[in-house]
Amino acid sequence: MDTIAPDSRLSKPTKTFLSHQHQLLIDGKWVAAASGKTFSVYNPATGAVMAQVAEADKEDVDRAVRAARRAFDEGPWRKMTGSQRGRLMWKLADLIEQHLEEFAEIESIDNGKPLAVARAADVPLTADMFRYMGGWATKITGSTIPWSAPNEFLSYTVREPVGVVGQIIPWNFPLLMAAWKLAPALAAGCTIVLKAAEQTPLSALRLGELIQEAGFPGGVVNILAGYGETAGAALAAHDDVDKVAFTGSTEVGKLIVKAAAGNLKKVSLELGGKSPTVIFGDADIEAAIPGAAGAIFFNHGQCCCAGSRLYAHKNVFDRIVEGVSGEAKKIKVGPGLDPATNMGPLVSEEQFERVTGYIESGIEEGAKIVTGGKKAGGDGGYFVEPTVLTGTKPSMKVVREEIFGPVVCAEPFDDADLERIAKKANDTIYGLAASVWTKDISKAHKMANLIRSGTVWINCHNVFDASLPFGGYKQSGWGREMGGEVLANYSEIKAVTAKL
Ligand code: NAP
Ligand code: MG
Repeated sequence: MDTIAPDSRLSKPTKTFLSHQHQLLIDGKWVAAASGKTFSVYNPATGAVMAQVAEADKEDVDRAVRAARRAFDEGPWRKMTGSQRGRLMWKLADLIEQHLEEFAEIESIDNGKPLAVARAADVPLTADMFRYMGGWATKITGSTIPWSAPNEFLSYTVREPVGVVGQIIPWNFPLLMAAWKLAPALAAGCTIVLKAAEQTPLSALRLGELIQEAGFPGGVVNILAGYGETAGAALAAHDDVDKVAFTGSTEVGKLIVKAAAGNLKKVSLELGGKSPTVIFGDADIEAAIPGAAGAIFFNHGQCCCAGSRLYAHKNVFDRIVEGVSGEAKKIKVGPGLDPATNMGPLVSEEQFERVTGYIESGIEEGAKIVTGGKKAGGDGGYFVEPTVLTGTKPSMKVVREEIFGPVVCAEPFDDADLERIAKKANDTIYGLAASVWTKDISKAHKMANLIRSGTVWINCHNVFDASLPFGGYKQSGWGREMGGEVLANYSEIKAVTAKL
């Protein structure tokens, strides 16, 4: 398919990057796919092809895993100190910041998100993740274990890198998800084969160039673009991969677990969500309204922790629904590169069909559209209006399933019993996040205790920090990203015992 000329609003470095041949980073070199195949990358704001990228397949996965294995077993990487690894990670963070504008533009045209959002969130958080985890590289320790017979044996534990890691990431925060995966694995001393999402491979490939520039030894980070069913599946099943880390849908997460069973590789999963936003009658309504709107509409609802089920006390329900709908109407939907845009297109045609399909199913099952519900923008581009549904029932598909789009289901509650309210919030197969809005601090903390999810926000939503563990209860996943906790994903513990 023909690739169109880059958008004239893009900066020169981004245009230069787009004009490159986009290959795979294997063993410190950029190479074509073994098959010679490439695939098209689309701009979701126009539907036009922006780039052709080498399409990794099983053979490329084999090559990359061999390189990562060599780098782990024989390369200089294993002999480097934590301080040396940390310094490389800091250098990478500096380089990412120096290329902030270029990364923001790449994210905006590849994923669709507003340029201002990528500038303020995706890229700085990415640099921060490498710095934060670079700090951990010198702080990965074991412990001495007191024995029942203290003078006969001495025991201590050490934490060692798990080995060769396969990482599979989604398209909603392409660069940041690469950082969430790469940074802790590098801090722990692992070597990596990372597969970017087929919809958004560009920022990971640009990151690969900076990884080389920072001076990481060849083979430590290998970056592949390709399809989940081929490259992703081959990586998850590979017998010489010690651990697979996945972020994406719960459905594919289950396939990863099955594929990993062959060699019983370690698995960590960050999966879907259907997170509740619970607003009590005593909440600061002026804060809760934009809070609940941001919870669902940030990143076009394409967040695993999006507040997609909104529960508000009946005394404030009408005001909340009216307020959130008002916020939705204020959102200017348009191309990410347009400075006036608050919400860009969904990432792909497939995602557009999926989200609009859910809205239709909600209407068929009896939900009412308060605002939104339609395609937005002109021809081309995968724009959907931010949508508020009421009249939903707990059994409806729109309430039960992850939509991953700007669609919220609002339902009133008429109850003072926190356990019953928490039961509603917990009525889902997922358990990733929740937010609770109230001025009563006891109520807030009691709710935090009752909600079964990996994150509970009080009077805020979608707030992240590299230092905070993030991950899911129930079918939202296994293990945690970020914080000190993520290091458990990438290390083995060895107990050493000496007879004295
Ligand atoms: P997905 O299929 O789970 O994709 C996530 C990653 O897994 C991508 O890199 C994908 O490659 C890869 N993959 C797909 N099938 C695979 C397989 N059999 N073995 C190994 N890797 C595989 O998600 P999606 O299709 O892009 O989006 C579908 C839905 O997933 C969304 O609507 C949303 O509900 C959910 N989702 C959740 C998150 C999250 O952060 N929790 C993120 C994205 C999507 P390809 O890119 O080639 O498919
Ligand atoms: Mg997919």
